[in-house]
Amino acid sequence: MELKYKRILLKLSGEALAGDQKMGIDYNVVLNICKSIQKAQALGAEIAIVVGGGNFWRGRSSGDMERTRADQIGMLATVMNALAVADALEHLGLEVRVQTAISMQQIAEPYIRNRATRHLEKGRVVILACGTGNPFFSTDTASALRAAEINAEIVFKATMVDGVYDKDPHRFDDAKRYHTLSFSQVLADQLAVMDSTAATMCRDNGLPLLVFDISDPENIVRALCGEDVGTLVKE
Ligand code: UDP
Repeated sequence: MELKYKRILLKLSGEALAGDQKMGIDYNVVLNICKSIQKAQALGAEIAIVVGGGNFWRGRSSGDMERTRADQIGMLATVMNALAVADALEHLGLEVRVQTAISMQQIAEPYIRNRATRHLEKGRVVILACGTGNPFFSTDTASALRAAEINAEIVFKATMVDGVYDKDPHRFDDAKRYHTLSFSQVLADQLAVMDSTAATMCRDNGLPLLVFDISDPENIVRALCGEDVGTLVKE
């Protein structure tokens, strides 16, 4: 199989790791996703992963809590997910490094761009946790930022929907899925693909984004080989 992309940034939302429970980590679900990552890696892809934390905590929905502190809790939540994904990948025999945007050196390496790219060149999967390390951002923005830093060709946004729709497909029967789309359209129509900071970051850095459904983890391999899955957002 020929690869369409050599170096990718895979964004795994927290929700994707939770399975049917919708909260916490379902290790079997994680393992299934990791089996596809293993296949992708065996095909020669260089894979950096940014993990979300929404299966534990989201800063913006934390009620009266001071936002900075709430976001710090959210960033720590991403570390739990990163460690679970790392464990599953290692279980499958892959070499993995976890790097965090907030130092916690007993657990993981600090994020250092050149070290991350070196790991990728050596065939290691790099898992990036703590988002950008700053409150008021999201792990989608962290994905765009890290993808730009490590020269990834594309961001794969693995979610629980099979692409981007013109309206909510759960509420409207006539909702239509986009095949391709521009970031300007995402921003103008406020489409629920990713937050505007992340969309702007992708657009300004010429980073395409592929949104696809991770409930079938094979989609990672299909997308990597250029098969028609999900919605491609570019320019
Ligand atoms: N977060 C943050 N800065 C970042 C990335 C994440 O403060 O750069 C916090 C924020 O509170 C966010 C939480 O971490 O709600 C979990 O990340 P996110 O909501 O992006 O996870 P996902 O929805 O992808 O699971």
